Amino acid sequence: MNKKERVFNFSAGPSMLPIDVINEVAAELANYQESGQSVMEMSHRSAEFDKIIKDAESDLRKLMNIPENYKVLFLQGGGTTQFSMVALNFMGGTHKADYIITGQWAKKAYTEACKYGDIKVVANSEDKKYTYIPKVSKDDFRPDADYVYICENNTIYGTHYNELPDTGEIPLVADMSSCILSQEIDVTKYAAIFAGAQKNIGPAGVTIAIIRDDMIGKAHPMTPVYMDYKVHAEKDSLYNTPPCFAIYVAGKVFKHLLDMGGIKAIEKVNLRKAEKLYNFIDNSKLFKCPVAKEDRSIMNVVMVTGNDVMDKKFVDEAKEAGFINLKGHRSIGGLRASIYNAMPEEGVDKLIEFMKKFEEENI
Ligand SMILES: *Cc1c(COP(=O)(O)O)cnc(C)c1O
Repeated sequence: MNKKERVFNFSAGPSMLPIDVINEVAAELANYQESGQSVMEMSHRSAEFDKIIKDAESDLRKLMNIPENYKVLFLQGGGTTQFSMVALNFMGGTHKADYIITGQWAKKAYTEACKYGDIKVVANSEDKKYTYIPKVSKDDFRPDADYVYICENNTIYGTHYNELPDTGEIPLVADMSSCILSQEIDVTKYAAIFAGAQKNIGPAGVTIAIIRDDMIGKAHPMTPVYMDYKVHAEKDSLYNTPPCFAIYVAGKVFKHLLDMGGIKAIEKVNLRKAEKLYNFIDNSKLFKCPVAKEDRSIMNVVMVTGNDVMDKKFVDEAKEAGFINLKGHRSIGGLRASIYNAMPEEGVDKLIEFMKKFEEENI
């Protein structure tokens, strides 16, 4: 690999950013729009930063078609902190919540929620190593539950909710850390959505929460001030110092997506990228995808050769050729190609070419 070139990074996160965004950031790094300072040095109460955060919010609202009765919050602490915030803020009614366990991230969210209320596991796909999304019906949920929780895209296992569970009147809360902005969604089907930035939004450090107004203001009295959504909602995400630089870069990614034609346009590319890769794998004699076809993620493509030594050989040779981070999650092994919005289609095409060649040489 030529070390002077940029690699195709298939990491599950942090992951690639659009090169145009990186170049723009580099160009104005030391002197942001003639302010004489970098965004890294700028007061979060300055007029310049006020415009940065307001533009980021309004561009995200445009991209996702977020209705007026939802707050958009820029927080810190990653997806993990949201596991606690969701439970602390949304169980103000019966203190009951229903969880569907589709992998490690959902399980972590569940374990956290158990500290604060009466939590029921409605369905669990651990029996088949989380290779599918369990089917549930409205009757499976407790009608008086304060919310139902799902992890919409299971980063580690390569599954995705291609159809949402019908929760009736019960508010639906979704972790979209690894699929936000990848496909058009109807925000009104959710009471709350959250996502860490480092997969499909921007650099690690900012976490986005999109919350319907009626869900805010019911936090448990013991909730730490930073973890109360109401505190952030009332101060437009400026209760304390927000992750300014990460918000600024995320804002650039939002503009970049709008310039591309919005989510509809990026969804088309994403579907094409995923289809090509799955097609190749499903016809391969060496690589296999263990995930149920109807539940496959278009962001995280999990595959195996069935042989650990071969998997390792593939990861090593791919790295040499400029395709990095193709190793599966440390908990399940195998291989995984994360192909988020910023992975160019060319990266997927070249990876497939490389996989073909590897297959010919090793079968
Ligand atoms: C990465 C990830 C998380 C954890 O995010 P952190 O920001 O590292 O806390 C949670 N949920 C999903 C679905 C993820 O992919």
